[in-house]
Amino acid sequence: MQEEIIEIFKKTGALLEGHFLLTSGKHSNKYFQCAKVLQYPEYNEKIGAEIANHFRDFEIDTVVSPAIGGIVAGQEVARKLGKRFIFTERENGRMTLRRGFELRNGEKVLIVEDVITTGGSVFEVIEEVKRNNAVVVGVSSIVDRSNGKVNFQVPQFSAAVLFAETFEPEDCPLCKQGIPLVKPGSRKF
Ligand code: ZN
Repeated sequence: MQEEIIEIFKKTGALLEGHFLLTSGKHSNKYFQCAKVLQYPEYNEKIGAEIANHFRDFEIDTVVSPAIGGIVAGQEVARKLGKRFIFTERENGRMTLRRGFELRNGEKVLIVEDVITTGGSVFEVIEEVKRNNAVVVGVSSIVDRSNGKVNFQVPQFSAAVLFAETFEPEDCPLCKQGIPLVKPGSRKF
């Protein structure tokens, strides 16, 4: 359930509300760090179950995730579905199956990512799956931050959808209210 998952994000400090400087230079009222949730296996299990249940009736052979972010989530979804789990990683800039991981012709793949913002990594995994003549039957993530903009042309499911408001610094209402700006990842943060 979306509300329950958002509660977990807040409880684990994964979802912060305030006034944040994003890497894009924009300001936002929310900041999300997925790894903060996944440090607790019981929450990963709960969220993984939601994703696995959604895809329960799909024909799936293997779960594939992009490293590093997707690995913890994907492993859990695969465990719940009782399927094999492998991951892709970048080699010379290209998202690739390494470590002897293979996909056979026509193998049915569910892709699991932690956070989808632009969908870049997932699109790269889709390409790698296709290069191996396997088939992507679905894409899922713990969080969708794309505001529904990313369409992978296959069934999609995210355990939670996060809508963050972003502002240009010059017309940021939080600046106008004098709320201190925090840069996520900085030490005191
Ligand atoms: Zn601001």
